[in-house]
Amino acid sequence: MTRTPEQRLASRIVERHDLTPPIDIAALTKQYAALEFAEWPYECDGLTIGLTSLPRPRVFIRHTGNTLRQRFTMAHELGHVLLPWHIEEVACSPRVGSGAFFEGGLREREASTFASHLLVPDRFLEPLCAVEISMTDALKALEKAEVSASASLIALARALPPGVAFVVEDRIFSSRGTVLPATNFDYWRNRQAWNSAAASHGRTRLRGKSLRWFKFEQFEEPAKVSDPRDSTQLLRDAIACITDDPREQKRILNVVNGVIGAAMTDENRSSPARALATMRHRLRARADLAELLQEPDFDLFLRRRAFAHSNH
Ligand SMILES: [Zn+2]
Repeated sequence: MTRTPEQRLASRIVERHDLTPPIDIAALTKQYAALEFAEWPYECDGLTIGLTSLPRPRVFIRHTGNTLRQRFTMAHELGHVLLPWHIEEVACSPRVGSGAFFEGGLREREASTFASHLLVPDRFLEPLCAVEISMTDALKALEKAEVSASASLIALARALPPGVAFVVEDRIFSSRGTVLPATNFDYWRNRQAWNSAAASHGRTRLRGKSLRWFKFEQFEEPAKVSDPRDSTQLLRDAIACITDDPREQKRILNVVNGVIGAAMTDENRSSPARALATMRHRLRARADLAELLQEPDFDLFLRRRAFAHSNH
């Protein structure tokens, strides 16, 4: 996936200052701007002035009892200070919207994305999302970043492979490319559908909030394939087991290659385990491939492709 300029800038700041959570965001902000805490009756949480007119911009943070929110607002304002094309003054209230994305106009979302990548750096998240992802351990480690439950889950979801979702207070956070069993989670109505679609699921607490997690795939190191056939032959043989019609065989072959091609982004190739889970998850979303997924040769094909696709 191509990283956006604000993501790259956040990573550069993390590298330059060698930052590790919990990041001292007040001290960092003071290196680039004058920082003041103030009380005011307006709705907004933060404000930056003098982006183009002052030698050192001034950042104002509304004094509230919520230190996690203040930390995020500070990182968001630092985004306005450091992103060179942010030149207008805006009253900011960084929020997470209903789709578990950041709210607001383009500049606001850019500043919040910068804040997320700064307070929860990619290099901190990546080891948590390696082969055997323990949700309990990953969520526990995230507490170190000192951001809210929503901000923690937005950050974690961006680093996880497809096939993982969290539910907090009816709000769903899922990794990119995840196919959900339903568009909402309702304890009384569809909890059973969620649980049975998941390979594993559990409950824990994050920042005092009750959280449910769902893994829709097994993330396991694939066993090596010793079969003498190459991957194309394995796929053809698997397809031949479910249909004799050459046109249908060709159609299925194209669908499989198309789905796999689209799913194999750079981050999903980071290990054979991740590549395998990603392929299985995306293919399972296709009802017309259900029969094929049961074929032993198809499993061999996927495992072989997982090794071939992986960068490692
Ligand atoms: Zn803003």
